[in-house]
Amino acid sequence: MARKPLIAGNWKMNLNHLEAIALVQKIAFSLPEKYFAKVDVAVLPPFTDIRSVQTLVDGDKLLLTYGGQDLSPHESGAYTGDVSGPMLAKLGCTYVVVGHSERREYHAETDEVVNKKVRAAVKHGLTPILCVGEPLEVREASGHIEHTTAQLIAGLKGLKAEQVDGIVVAYEPVWAIGTGRVATPSDAEEVCAALRSALGDKYGAELAERTRVLYGGSVKSGNIADLVKCDNIDGALVGGASLDGEEFTKLCALA
Ligand code: PEP
Repeated sequence: MARKPLIAGNWKMNLNHLEAIALVQKIAFSLPEKYFAKVDVAVLPPFTDIRSVQTLVDGDKLLLTYGGQDLSPHESGAYTGDVSGPMLAKLGCTYVVVGHSERREYHAETDEVVNKKVRAAVKHGLTPILCVGEPLEVREASGHIEHTTAQLIAGLKGLKAEQVDGIVVAYEPVWAIGTGRVATPSDAEEVCAALRSALGDKYGAELAERTRVLYGGSVKSGNIADLVKCDNIDGALVGGASLDGEEFTKLCALA
């Protein structure tokens, strides 16, 4: 079964809402309309930009999708600074990143917290982009498959197959994020295949076949083509290179 690739730009804590508008326009108008029938493209701006992106996408009927970089496991209440699933859904978000390694590291997010966030996303009709990935010392000790598959299964704990169906998984080795040190296609493929196989063992081969598994970590226009050629890599989660409209559209065109 052919899976439609997804290229998702994680802007992290960059760009104000005016810069966001300029970047979305650049991406949407640089790629021909027919491109979007073959590849899904999403931007993942900071929360403060999402309303502006929504206005632009709706107003100009752009074929881009967008989403948040995180969400609260809670629906509402006394959680100062947090943003909930219903809030993102109301802004027309398709996706939400869950379990990015920067959140795991700087906000001490455990697999248990990540699991609660995945459940919150699914409950509110958002597609989680569930990130997993090993730190360098785990890779060096050859524990990367065990580490990433355990993160995946823990992140999905308690969800029924119909709730898992449609989620996106992103393999992002921690040592490759923002370092310029991209995983080789064969290293990335090995883990993406193992993640798909773990999904198959737990939720059935058909669901696993349908699930998009992305690679993320120093993806650029110069390396995307070799990555997406791999059987089990269905696109990319792109950080740094998604902030430059020219580079990002070039990368998309090569995906
Ligand atoms: C990311 O933050 O998800 C990421 C992959 O970053 P970069 O592309 O900059 O390595």
